[in-house]
Amino acid sequence: MSNRDNIFENALLRLDRAAQFANIGAEALDRLKHPKSVVYVSIPVRMDDGSLRIFKGYRVRHDDTRGPTKGGIRFHPQVHLGEVKALAFWMTCKCAVAGIPFGGGKGGVIVNPKELSRMELERLSRGFVQQLADFIGPDTDIPAPDVYTNSMIMGWMMDEYSTIQRRRTPGVITGKPIPLGGSLGRDDATGRGAYYCIKELERSNNWTPDNVRVAIQGFGNAGQHVARLLHADGYRCVAISDSKGGVYREEGLDIPRAIELKRSQTSVSNVYGERSVCDCPDCGCVECHCNPDDSGSGSVISNEQLLELDVDILIPAALENQITGENASRITAPYIVEVANGPTTTEADDILKELGTTVVPDILANAGGVTVSYFEWTQNRAGYYWSEGEVHQRLQKIMAQEFGAIHDLSVETEIDMRTAAYAHALNRIGEAMESQGTSR
Ligand code: GLU
Repeated sequence: MSNRDNIFENALLRLDRAAQFANIGAEALDRLKHPKSVVYVSIPVRMDDGSLRIFKGYRVRHDDTRGPTKGGIRFHPQVHLGEVKALAFWMTCKCAVAGIPFGGGKGGVIVNPKELSRMELERLSRGFVQQLADFIGPDTDIPAPDVYTNSMIMGWMMDEYSTIQRRRTPGVITGKPIPLGGSLGRDDATGRGAYYCIKELERSNNWTPDNVRVAIQGFGNAGQHVARLLHADGYRCVAISDSKGGVYREEGLDIPRAIELKRSQTSVSNVYGERSVCDCPDCGCVECHCNPDDSGSGSVISNEQLLELDVDILIPAALENQITGENASRITAPYIVEVANGPTTTEADDILKELGTTVVPDILANAGGVTVSYFEWTQNRAGYYWSEGEVHQRLQKIMAQEFGAIHDLSVETEIDMRTAAYAHALNRIGEAMESQGTSR
């Protein structure tokens, strides 16, 4: 079986590894191996040409001991149930790492959203909520954006849910547009949370940013924002990539221009845009007319090559299973900061450990997104909205605090940061289950 087929079972291996360093009973641990509920839906969508297409979707609630289940909805052609279960499990652990009162959930629709018109995308989004309306809610299960979903889609979904319930219910979903009850600072929160983790590494290692070379795989919402924040601090972002490939430039890339390029041609009807970072200024490609033979210009590389570059920090910010038993031994970056969910397989964990690589794990590094989702949900419930500065300040405090706790645990018990992050999460989950009186 490939990593893809048994992704949930693989994810669970980390539980057993971490449990020996955590205060959690066998029964509680067993409960975490079984998602609380799994919903399959079919979503009939009337296409613009008049035909009917049926899309398949899932929503998994993994565990709700610490609060309502929380997690994004992914629109991707490769979505499958095992993946959604793994993603929901990671959300349970992530919310516990961040210390926010949520359990874990996740949803996905099997679709290539780039092939849909804006109207088709809206009908699909509303259709998914129609099918899920009995399963989600501000006190039960709260979706959010994930791969290829965005604030516009969250706005449609919130509106559909409110229509079904006959009352405006902004707290049913997070990552909404600001005028519909979204929180300031939610858009860049995942990238910003990872950036705050890197600032903690910078502090403990006394780094000078312009000496630190960074490669980022994936240039969606999270990848763009972490690149933007690092670039603004003087970090040398030498490589970025997206689904079409990547660019490398030893002197560092012009990140603001790359973001501008990536976002250009994203119009109302063309929700996802057509441009790739391969069309990036100074990359050496034909499109931007820079000379590939110039010593100052860069080169086009593949996503696989990006991972193996000689850099100081590698940031996987795309999909799962990128760093595997096959390529891990060729990864030379001493620091990996996982902005994607599940980019490293368990086989790769062992190899990276041998290599002495420091991995800031996904359930810590990308927890900024769900943390600001929690802020959004509390603001919706209170009806009182915070300034962007307040959001940043509270996020920074949580990220620095949890990074510190996990780092200390890893040093004290001589374990890697991933195992420490899971142990930290299991302590909180175990305590909650024990308080419920349902597990020992
Ligand atoms: N999809 C994001 C994640 O994987 C955010 C989830 C949320 O805000 O609920 O963490």
